[in-house]
Amino acid sequence: PIVLGFETSCDETGVGIVRGNELLADAVATSVDEHARFGGVVPEVASRAHLEAMVPTVHRALETAGLKLADVDAIAVTAGPGLAGALLVGVAAAKGYALALDKPLYGVNHLAAHVCVDQLEHGPLPEPCMALLVSGGHSSLLLVPDVTSDIRPLGSTVDDAAGEAFDKVARVLGLGFPGGPLIDRAAREGDGAAIAFPRGLTGPRDAPFDFSFSGLKTAVARWVEARERSGQPVPVADVAASFQEAVVDVLTRKAVRACKENGVDHLLIGGGVAANSRLRALAEQRAADQGIRVRVPRPKLCTDNGAMVAALGAQLVARGARPSALDLPADSSMLITDVLV
Ligand code: ATP
Ligand code: MG
Ligand code: FE
Repeated sequence: PIVLGFETSCDETGVGIVRGNELLADAVATSVDEHARFGGVVPEVASRAHLEAMVPTVHRALETAGLKLADVDAIAVTAGPGLAGALLVGVAAAKGYALALDKPLYGVNHLAAHVCVDQLEHGPLPEPCMALLVSGGHSSLLLVPDVTSDIRPLGSTVDDAAGEAFDKVARVLGLGFPGGPLIDRAAREGDGAAIAFPRGLTGPRDAPFDFSFSGLKTAVARWVEARERSGQPVPVADVAASFQEAVVDVLTRKAVRACKENGVDHLLIGGGVAANSRLRALAEQRAADQGIRVRVPRPKLCTDNGAMVAALGAQLVARGARPSALDLPADSSMLITDVLV
């Protein structure tokens, strides 16, 4: 089926088009620059930007795919989780198109879409697989027997999400926003072993699949402060690399262990932080040592986009899922166990 997907959970207005597992268009408009001076996404600003970008982004996607609206077989939209006002814009738009075109509408989970998107790049998802979902708002290990109906959380962050930690540490280092890509870049010139930052929740009595990044963030801030107080220059590249190493060390260690303990031999990594070059390299290396195959989509498909929503929509159609009601709600705190509204 040809599926049109809408994504507006945060600051990206994404409209994607897929035909089954084939990516036909992935148009993204972002309001990130409007939020940069606030150091974080401002919900009201994001909603307004979605409203302005929505229709032009739909047209851009159709043009890229060489299709007309009449060619679309089904519509999928992020119903949650995310910013309530931002979600509403996408949900309202999707309802309008579904109604006007008389096509089925699927209100889907943004996090499941982050997992599902990999099929556009590497073909059908191996199910069951383990998914390490690391983004701006979430960090979880998920056992995925069926991405359209059965996602089981094994653990998640008890405080900050991985992406949030990247963003906060980038601010401490004066690198800008969003911090993930900037730390990734700065770290390439640094030594990941220069400073021994703490690895949260890795003790023998700690929950094996939960994460904690707030202590790490504080440790980095303290280290930088102490350095500034002593009048010495802050070695930004080394701090960035050592912080990044602490995050990806824990993520990959726990992900590989989750695979082994659950007898799963495919690890899928999704969400914005999956774009991180060191995470990709270390996961590959540690998984290979254990006979586990790693799948990570290309960076553009890791951060928020409409193609991932369309991809999940296409799977739902293919597996005969019941479409959502046309009055489906946006659910800002939608649980990962609910793939479809
Ligand atoms: P969620 O998916 O939990 O609702 P979100 O949609 O805001 O949150 P994503 O767009 O999936 O999050 O990811 C954005 C996050 O990814 C930001 O925190 C950003 O700093 C981080 N990120 C992006 N690229 C990189 C990178 N190369 N290295 C590390 N982090 C990155
Ligand atoms: Mg974003
Ligand atoms: Fe996201």
